[in-house]
Amino acid sequence: MNRKAELVDRKSLWLVRELGLPAIVKTCVSCRTTRHHPTGKVRVNANGKILDVWLLIGCERCGRTSKIPVHERVHVQTLDHDRLVMFETNDPAVVRELAMDAALAGRAGHRLDWTGTWALETDMPFYEIEKDLEPLDVIVRFELPAPIRVGKLLMAGLGLSRSAVRNAVDSGRIRLPMAVDARVRADFAFVIGGQRFLRFEGAPT
Ligand SMILES: [Zn+2]
Repeated sequence: MNRKAELVDRKSLWLVRELGLPAIVKTCVSCRTTRHHPTGKVRVNANGKILDVWLLIGCERCGRTSKIPVHERVHVQTLDHDRLVMFETNDPAVVRELAMDAALAGRAGHRLDWTGTWALETDMPFYEIEKDLEPLDVIVRFELPAPIRVGKLLMAGLGLSRSAVRNAVDSGRIRLPMAVDARVRADFAFVIGGQRFLRFEGAPT
């Protein structure tokens, strides 16, 4: 096996595990608290062939129920039948999807608070990027679309300070497909180390 083939095997998997749904940030008309959580119910109202669909949410403090409009005055034929059944049966998967839907939040005018909704699990709780000179591919998988700064993920995954992460990125010891300040919410991969090998390959003989 040549050296390159050995290097291909060096992979690590990081998992952004889902701990819960984001809070829906919207002012309660009763108590003025802003944090809400889905009640687990979707309401469908039919007026002839015209439908309204709402996600029901409850105030964290007083429990007052509010409605998030999902579909307003749409013709029944414009909705996929299976999806309509999911709405009508309060399918947990559709409640979860609506509760995390950033586009819906934008349309309905609420914000999502992802604090405490995720935890990073890695198969490498501590990793000495200074000492290890072989490249390591890290694959990051997201169980939920929580927007997380890449730098924050690296700090959590490598046990490094903010400045150490920044230095490693600036010096090329960590190579990212996006800026260290960028927010990610979907699977991506990056590379740690391998500087000696890169220098060796690039060096004149
Ligand atoms: Zn309230």
